[in-house]
Amino acid sequence: MHVTLACSPADGQLSAAVRNSDLPPVPPLLRSSGSVEVITGSMFSGKTEELIRRLKRALFARQRVQAFKPRIDDRYDPTRIVSHQAVAVDAVAVATSQSLEERVAEDTQVVAIDEAQFFDRGIVEVCERLANRGIRVIAAGLDQDYLGRPFPPMPDLMAIAEEVTKVHAVCTVCCGPASRSQRLSIEASTVLVGGAESYEARCRACFEARDVPRTER
Ligand SMILES: [Zn+2]
Repeated sequence: MHVTLACSPADGQLSAAVRNSDLPPVPPLLRSSGSVEVITGSMFSGKTEELIRRLKRALFARQRVQAFKPRIDDRYDPTRIVSHQAVAVDAVAVATSQSLEERVAEDTQVVAIDEAQFFDRGIVEVCERLANRGIRVIAAGLDQDYLGRPFPPMPDLMAIAEEVTKVHAVCTVCCGPASRSQRLSIEASTVLVGGAESYEARCRACFEARDVPRTER
């Protein structure tokens, strides 16, 4: 499935499309140093925006880029990677880490992975192998689940990464820097994919590690 990480029509600055087809062949030296970068934090912390920012810089540098997202995440658009701010980029939705690895082209220089917390544990080894091939891997995902627990496989991904960036949202209660995702619905599954209607950002002090319907607060 091929898709477009596109942009809000209102934001002309972010309207560059991801296109590999017109680029010349990649000299071997430019692919020599692979690495893993992780962008992590709570919901509404700007992880996907930061991922797209780095992707756009790679594209301006005329590097060959591929972006992936887990097929489980069908918020906003079933065939695109789109942030809460409606910024988007060309991407492929894949069901497993193996499927992702199989779709990475021989001459790809940068691999972006959004919502990495929804991938199977194999994503850690896949990122390692891609980086060992000389590819720059940039993975964005939630570091904690709705109870504030480490969200596998992100802890392992952060451990093998050369660089980890924690981004922060704004706490909806006290307006301080938020590091946690407060679930507002009472459903019990860890994998509840949702946007603003299901979660809000909270700081450590304001976060409640339980399911609290909005009406009971
Ligand atoms: Zn707070």
